[in-house]
Amino acid sequence: MPGTETKEAVTVVGAGLVGSLLAMYLARRGYSVEVLERRPDMRREVIDAGRSINLAISTRGLHALRQVGLEAEALKHAIPMRGRMIHSAKGELAYQPYGKDDSQHINSLSRAWLNKFLMTEAEATGRVRIRFKQRVTHVDFETGSLTVHDDATGETRREEGRVLFGTDGSGSAVRQEMDRVPGFTASQEQLGHGYKELTIPAGPGGAFQMEKHALHIWPRGTYMLIALPNEDGSFTCTLFLPWKGPVSFESLDTPARLEAFFQEQFPDAKALIPDLVDAFFSRPTGSMVTVKCAPWRVGGRTLVLGDAAHAIVPFFGQGMNCGFEDCVVLDGLLGRQGRWEDVFADFERLRKTNADAIADMAVENFIEMRDSTGSPRFLLEKAVEKTLLNAFPGEFVSRYTLVSFSRVPYRLAYEVGAIAGGIVSELSEGLTRAEDVNLERAGQLIRGRLVPFMKEHADGFRTEG
Ligand SMILES: Cc1cc2nc3c(=O)[nH]c(=O)nc-3n(C[C@H](O)[C@H](O)[C@H](O)COP(=O)(O)OP(=O)(O)OC[C@H]3O[C@@H](n4cnc5c(N)ncnc54)[C@H](O)[C@@H]3O)c2cc1C
Repeated sequence: MPGTETKEAVTVVGAGLVGSLLAMYLARRGYSVEVLERRPDMRREVIDAGRSINLAISTRGLHALRQVGLEAEALKHAIPMRGRMIHSAKGELAYQPYGKDDSQHINSLSRAWLNKFLMTEAEATGRVRIRFKQRVTHVDFETGSLTVHDDATGETRREEGRVLFGTDGSGSAVRQEMDRVPGFTASQEQLGHGYKELTIPAGPGGAFQMEKHALHIWPRGTYMLIALPNEDGSFTCTLFLPWKGPVSFESLDTPARLEAFFQEQFPDAKALIPDLVDAFFSRPTGSMVTVKCAPWRVGGRTLVLGDAAHAIVPFFGQGMNCGFEDCVVLDGLLGRQGRWEDVFADFERLRKTNADAIADMAVENFIEMRDSTGSPRFLLEKAVEKTLLNAFPGEFVSRYTLVSFSRVPYRLAYEVGAIAGGIVSELSEGLTRAEDVNLERAGQLIRGRLVPFMKEHADGFRTEG
């Protein structure tokens, strides 16, 4: 471990994905870390790991794991997804690679496995103690003391003040307590859609019943179905539907309506989901929220990170990746050994604008996924984009590749992506086949608009994948 000297004790609230990884980073810097987690220990009791069953980890998240020596083990359990497989209502398939070639892919990983793995590895540092069934209900920012409800004994106690990290997720109790600090502002925007998870089981002998190395999408305008592969040969499908309206969770209120809807819109998926009706009506419907708040800190005493500071909708597959990147950035600042107050201020300055950018891109990607991915124009533009990525390496980049396959700050990815998207749109005008794209004109546009902007922001491009 880099830090062998033992430093002060600190507290982390929440042993989810970000809290567990953060505890490990802090331990490696020499801090002794107490983690308070409201749920029981999922390694010993069967509990719902929350949110999605699996999730996509990409370059930013993998980089964060690599820094603490965990990437290789995580990748052993991951399934590479090299592109999107688009399913039409007639069951026709269209495949779009995510990057310039197969080396650029995202990875499907079990959320529960990853969370358990991170908790175990954090404890293995010898400096992390995770206490389960401990729910933080109040924070006194004057003294730093916490009120904790022990769900096992039913008792409530006070814990003395220490530096506190709030990684307690989108409904963060720590963030809610910050509401009482003068100058604090927070917004929570609920998406008008909810989600429901369904399962396509493995076929005979654990076979995958659809293409294994793809993220499957059934785009249908105001709603969509997606599916990610699992290690055991199954797929976890997520149905995103409006809460209310003509086609919505409210309107699909009987087995007959549900089955007719699936038969009409997702016939190929329906044939592979044997317990559709049971699963749909028995499983909970999840909600999605974008949380933005400021400041993320109270002096040098408390800092929120991960979803607690910046929950985003899941359509770019970046919520956890962004939270893991928070840990890397904080760790870099801790390496400079400043006062907590300065470290927290620098952290917010570096991360807030990037968290806001990925929050906005995630909402925009929802529209792209559910609406555009099925359109011929979108397919053409993606093919043109791939042609340009290969024809102009180092000069042409796209928003998706910068977000998913680089560590270029999200804000810069947003701005560069907008310029690149404009170029692709312009070049696709009047085309029917990507092969016919005018590469000479492409070179002029790229060197005229994109390259100068990237040069101007060269610092942001110096992060390695
Ligand atoms: C449907 C869906 C799909 C997603 N897919 C992806 C994806 O593909 N890729 C990706 O990068 N991200 C994805 N995300 C986002 C990702 O799930 C989150 O960004 C990530 O879980 C955030 O981690 P966290 O540790 O900040 O919060 P959480 O994972 O929510 O963990 C918070 C922890 O704090 C605990 N806690 C809460 N309150 C208290 C309290 N008062 N006291 C003590 N403990 C408390 C909770 O029990 C929990 O263990 C998805 C999200 C959704 C909803």
